Amino acid sequence: MAQTTCSFCGRNKKDVDLLVSGISAHICNLCIEQAFEIVGEDKKNKNSSSKPAFNLKKPKELTQYLDQYVIGQEDAKKVLTVAVYNHYKRLQQKQEADEVTIEKSNIILVGDTGTGKTYLAKTLAKILEVPFCIADATVLTEAGYVGEDVESILTRLLQAADYKVEDAERGIVYIDELDKIARKSDNPSITRDVSGEGVQQALLKLLEGTVVNVPPQGGRKHPDQKMIAVNTENILFICGGAFDGIARHIGKRLHTQPMGFNSSTASLTADRDNLLQYVTAQDLKAFGLIPELIGRLPVLTHLDPLHKDTLKRILTEPKNALVKQYAKLMAMEGVTLTFEEGALDFIVEKAVEYNLGARGLRSICEAIVTDAMYDIPSDSSITTLVIDEAYARSKFDTSKFKQLQVA
Ligand code: ADP
Repeated sequence: MAQTTCSFCGRNKKDVDLLVSGISAHICNLCIEQAFEIVGEDKKNKNSSSKPAFNLKKPKELTQYLDQYVIGQEDAKKVLTVAVYNHYKRLQQKQEADEVTIEKSNIILVGDTGTGKTYLAKTLAKILEVPFCIADATVLTEAGYVGEDVESILTRLLQAADYKVEDAERGIVYIDELDKIARKSDNPSITRDVSGEGVQQALLKLLEGTVVNVPPQGGRKHPDQKMIAVNTENILFICGGAFDGIARHIGKRLHTQPMGFNSSTASLTADRDNLLQYVTAQDLKAFGLIPELIGRLPVLTHLDPLHKDTLKRILTEPKNALVKQYAKLMAMEGVTLTFEEGALDFIVEKAVEYNLGARGLRSICEAIVTDAMYDIPSDSSITTLVIDEAYARSKFDTSKFKQLQVA
């Protein structure tokens, strides 16, 4: 009988790990792998030449998607999705003679810590399938000082884009804690202000659009390091900050300009609970952002504070809600896990009590379920676990979490 060989490379069956037979031909595992690579390359080339390298959805579609992950924050979602949509439409515009240039719509989000600023930006990048990175404004310094140069932000974006410059140039950068680089007073300083105004100045060009030489491995620049040129013109920058104390300022401003406050007393009290919704560029300036920087972040929106009912929804509703995650982990052990309403309320109460916002929900849940997660895998007799308020409270009270917080 004739030897069975690969119809592509001619290798003998005994020389390969696997030979797949077709109607009148055979293919070995090595050729399959090679063919797979060729198909992948071809797809990539086609994608880069004919389709935009991002998945553009309309604002409403974007919001529907965001809703699956981020609870509430309707205002922020609307403003963000419109800005993001316009930004990517801007990238698709054809250059024409009568061109109305659509300007870049970098965004600034004002909201308490843990209300979902980073999460919104990150989820948007995921939906659009563009590279995303988070930078912390507090570690940035102007060139020449100890700390990271603003270019280091782009190193991270490049890394997120697998060093594909073209992809990075359409990415989204989230700059956290922008409020921490505010200058300390509303008056321009006479002396140089390393930590604040200098960094704001250094950010200007980056936000507006410029070609930056980026050290691929990050860190400080040194002369013989090979640099990668990145154009920031089409990178969308979303900046966020808590701007502690800005609400007081807004309140004062509204008090002296009573327009909008001539509605009924009831709505006046409701509004007082969430003054951030009235934030304007003027407030940011008073907080210590330089006008040039504010000008380069034309889209301004706020995040609402997370009240108990929102926190409870965050715990249970999103696609990857914590409660769903724990239930899945337990299901993999053959155990049905349920959280009773009382336990959910308890978790939310603790998050509020310790002022941890949504970020605290996870650590509180961990404190409650860790014992069960430890015991259950070795105990096949357990098939259900119901976490009620008493259980949650007892686990929480004996947890390190509680001791840590008390200390
Ligand atoms: P910050 O406003 O400080 O940037 P984050 O976006 O990092 O806060 O939020 C911390 C975590 O809390 C997120 O990773 C997310 O799991 C959760 N979270 C915060 N706000 C929401 C929300 N509105 N909906 C769902 N999850 C949220």
